[in-house]
Amino acid sequence: MKNNQILKIYGTDYKEMTAELLTRADLLGRIKDKSCRIGIKPNLVSPSPASCGATTHPEVVAGIIEYLRSGGCSNIVLMEGSWVGDKTSEAIGVCGYDVLAKEYGVPFIDTQKEGAYAKDCAGLELRICDCVRDVDFMINVPVLKGHCQTRITCALKNMKGLLPNKEKRRFHAMGLHEPIAHLAMGIRQDFVVIDHICGDLDFEDGGNPVVRNCVMAACDPVLADAYACRLLHYDVAEVPYIKMAEALGAGSANLEQAQILTCRRDVLESLEAQGHPAETGLEKETLWFLEGPDEELPLSRRTVELRDAVEEVESCSACYGYLIPALDRLREEGLLKKLDDKICIGQGYRGRTGHIGIGQCTAGFAHHVAGCPPTEGQIYEFLKEYIHRIEAKES
Ligand code: SF4
Repeated sequence: MKNNQILKIYGTDYKEMTAELLTRADLLGRIKDKSCRIGIKPNLVSPSPASCGATTHPEVVAGIIEYLRSGGCSNIVLMEGSWVGDKTSEAIGVCGYDVLAKEYGVPFIDTQKEGAYAKDCAGLELRICDCVRDVDFMINVPVLKGHCQTRITCALKNMKGLLPNKEKRRFHAMGLHEPIAHLAMGIRQDFVVIDHICGDLDFEDGGNPVVRNCVMAACDPVLADAYACRLLHYDVAEVPYIKMAEALGAGSANLEQAQILTCRRDVLESLEAQGHPAETGLEKETLWFLEGPDEELPLSRRTVELRDAVEEVESCSACYGYLIPALDRLREEGLLKKLDDKICIGQGYRGRTGHIGIGQCTAGFAHHVAGCPPTEGQIYEFLKEYIHRIEAKES
């Protein structure tokens, strides 16, 4: 496949359709030395099964491994680290990667336990986990989903899982967008397989999956993210790290020049299930990787109103990611509108005073919930109790 192309395949047999997608993309043709070390980087942000919309389906990774092996590539390693606040070791079990690694005899490197090296990433020095240095060919396998801080997350931001926790925190202190763009120059993504099976349109850690039953392939991570913006109804300019990465030379965000090719394997599956004679070459070809009308995802902006209730300065993903669903629960219960002040969150509040805050960074505030990060449940209970105290005072 060409660098300006994105291939999409729809269906429900995720392993088989991924292998089919990679065959059409001729991924093996891009791997010149079949004995090279191939890294596969899924998204295991938290211990949440893929069906919840946050993590990469293990069947997609299984399809990649089987495809690579069929072409003589056997030096394969999986690598990932969950976000700050959750343990990768738990996510590996909950998401089925312990079983997968055992079944295929592929090692899984928990990057939360790795050492790190300093790398100049196009003018910004970042610390990257040691295991990345040994990889000759990197296959990124992100989930296409919404994100309550950066609006979307797909190929570029997924590489953050290959940093030590301390560096992930520093990313947030640096404003997220710039370091994400520079990271694209520090870790080369040789190929991207996007899990677009049921990503959450708002929350990085899932909870509201929207089923699309699609897997995509791209050679250019910048183009992949620009396309993710289009699907999630954002202008590319609303996600600054994409244009920043393009300016650094990590790829092209030019969707005008992109070719989106789709295979409706799901239609074929359904024809075959109905006993329709879909085996003719002609009929199959009409369903294979054609340009045509693209899918329409529902517009979801659940986090917009919730973000208005928050003052965020350099917040870590997990801290913010737990706060927003907690606020969503309060909104559903009609309690959110009773809050009397904005809620402060983030490393920028360290050593400062204020009214109400989240996490140990706001320990100097009059009211705050402890933890680094506090969980969604702890935040919810803290805010609920706070609101009830306000109500009691007023009555
Ligand atoms: S309390 Fe501060 S350092 Fe800890 S997770 Fe939250 S924002 Fe990050």
